[in-house]
Amino acid sequence: MMPRPLLLDLPIDRLPVPNGQGGYRQRQLARWLYQRGARRADAMTDLPAAWRSELEERWRIDPFVRTERFPSADGSVRYLFTLADAQRTEAVFIPYRDRKTVCVSSMVGCPAGCAFCATGALGFGRNLRRGEILAQLLAVAWHEGFAPTELRNVVLMGMGEALLNYDAAVGAVRTMVDPEGLGISLRRVTLSTVGLPNRIRRLAHERLPLVLAVSLHAPDDDTRRRIIPTAHAHPIADIVASLHDWQAAGGRRVTIEYTMLDGVNDALRQADGLAACLEGLVAHVNLIPFNPWRGSGFRSSPAARIDAFARRLERASVPCSVRFSRGRDAGGACGQLALQGAEGRSGEASVAS
Ligand code: SF4
Repeated sequence: MMPRPLLLDLPIDRLPVPNGQGGYRQRQLARWLYQRGARRADAMTDLPAAWRSELEERWRIDPFVRTERFPSADGSVRYLFTLADAQRTEAVFIPYRDRKTVCVSSMVGCPAGCAFCATGALGFGRNLRRGEILAQLLAVAWHEGFAPTELRNVVLMGMGEALLNYDAAVGAVRTMVDPEGLGISLRRVTLSTVGLPNRIRRLAHERLPLVLAVSLHAPDDDTRRRIIPTAHAHPIADIVASLHDWQAAGGRRVTIEYTMLDGVNDALRQADGLAACLEGLVAHVNLIPFNPWRGSGFRSSPAARIDAFARRLERASVPCSVRFSRGRDAGGACGQLALQGAEGRSGEASVAS
């Protein structure tokens, strides 16, 4: 039997309402979905009973048939979701003081195949729908027990290359930042890409000045091709040119993601090369110590080398930070998402639904 369609797939102004009733009813339904976090239409007590029953009968809100939680000792929680077609995807909840961040996936697996990324090693399952991306945020709020409006930051940095699932990812961002939706500030939504120049230029014209994070990971094409297959099609010069276009069209400062891989991309001459390719761009570099996963064949650069690399960039006036990922012991850190169940993990899975 086909599952009922997903309400969250629809833009707010296309939510189904009783005949002839438009905006007000759609906003009322959106508030229940995205602000009060209703998981079923039955719970939407101030909607007319007939409409509620119709919503309950014809539509779904929660697309996940199973949700598993893997808490990390550092307070973050990896979520493993199983969809109706048995495909699985993941999100990571990262609380910090009163700031709640969720890292969401845009795909099942990923076709980009970056060599240092456990998701890339899985291959590509399928694109997630707009509603399946949004539902990850709601599911974290449902299971952690807070209202979705308490979410402060969203990063589309989980499984998948968001710009290859363009319409669903951009549509989901629109609902995230809509005041009738989750109401999250655009400055607090980060979209990560492996660097696809045409898609970056297209995004520049969406009038969505979110934070763009580009996974560069190397300062020269030869090194980059060794670790990122898409680098064969997209030289660094093209990516950087598209980032200049992004900023010329009003885009904010970009974040350059750079995973520190021992003996691969961490020499001081490579820091100089990175500074040279970013010249003229308003950019901040995040240096990410590699998070290990079984069979990767990579090691993180030692702390002293990361430090020296950072100092070299700073000397060239390139702002940078060293970012330690949360959730390593739960398989939820940057580059580790690989659909692991409870086996081999320190935290025990709890089945949440
Ligand atoms: S780093 Fe990102 S783009 Fe590359 S394989 Fe992993 S999820 Fe895909």
